[in-house]
Amino acid sequence: MSFSHANPPLVPSLRYCDSIEPELAAFIDALPKAELHLHIDGALPWEQIRSTDPSLPERPDVWDRNFRFASFEAFLELCDYYCMPWLTSLDRCAASVEAMIRTCAAQNVRYVETSIDLGAALRIGSPADVLAAMRVGASRVEGVTVRLFMGISRDALPRIGPVVHEVLDAPDLNGIDLHGIEPMPIEPWVVEFWRKAQEMGKMTKAHAGEFGPAASVREVVEKLNVTRVEHGTRAIENPEVVALLRDRNVILDVCPISNLKLQVVPSLAEHPIAALHRSGVICTLNTDDPLDFGSTLREEYALLVTEMGLDRQDLITIATNGFRAALLSVEEKNQLIGEVKRIGTSMLPASEGPVALER
Ligand SMILES: [Zn+2]
Repeated sequence: MSFSHANPPLVPSLRYCDSIEPELAAFIDALPKAELHLHIDGALPWEQIRSTDPSLPERPDVWDRNFRFASFEAFLELCDYYCMPWLTSLDRCAASVEAMIRTCAAQNVRYVETSIDLGAALRIGSPADVLAAMRVGASRVEGVTVRLFMGISRDALPRIGPVVHEVLDAPDLNGIDLHGIEPMPIEPWVVEFWRKAQEMGKMTKAHAGEFGPAASVREVVEKLNVTRVEHGTRAIENPEVVALLRDRNVILDVCPISNLKLQVVPSLAEHPIAALHRSGVICTLNTDDPLDFGSTLREEYALLVTEMGLDRQDLITIATNGFRAALLSVEEKNQLIGEVKRIGTSMLPASEGPVALER
């Protein structure tokens, strides 16, 4: 019997590790994982981008491990350069989401939260239509629960106009995520918009502490009442902000390779995820924009051990954090968390001992 598949499952090639020690690779691959910080417009499959321009190289130069973006603006320019020729229809949007989720599934990811920036979405349709197309693409992949977010920049209302208000009425919307650089203070319309979303039962997130300082992280927690901060990396610069995150059980959706390539950190060894984790801040591990960084989740996990000073028990905790954060029922969360702990603990080397049941 033969069968064909439009998007065969594919475990991405190694880009940051020369190799992953087989026992560690088996451990990472066996752990059920969540991916909570993933931008569709930054995760379009390279093969799809190349189909619009065969002169593009087989592999983007920006995936080189030594490549660094000179600025956030340079990164945004590249996003548009890749995104605009391909992401021109709802069908293509669905096809990209399907391929992206298959890549997640191939890395044993069971739960995904993904966002599309409103500016990119409006090039192909209304917020409701784009989210519906994303839902169609996600539904073609079995075994992965997908939640959909709209990314809204801090300047969206003045720049894009009142269509921003349509976002919250889209039936397929699970939540919103504040995007972009971090000018302070946050505009009053953003505070009002996030409050309204929360009243409607939507999950709300905010990018902060990436280019902005620890005060920017404090601002989104205190003014927007978010319990999910995308990155939050620079919170480490202020112990009071670290304590705030810990005391309020705020979850940081951290992406070390992204921070490296955008020069938020000078090296992975100097990334604060281990310090934040050890301070009791709930961290999850994610890839952000794999199209632009060449980041893959299994390498992000491997690098925690090989470059950032964490061990396999920490990987178990970080994987369970992903499901603690998930928009799933208590029963579904407990089942996935139980699976992570059971599989992870059974594969721990004797030197690392039994895993703690709770942090
Ligand atoms: Zn992001």
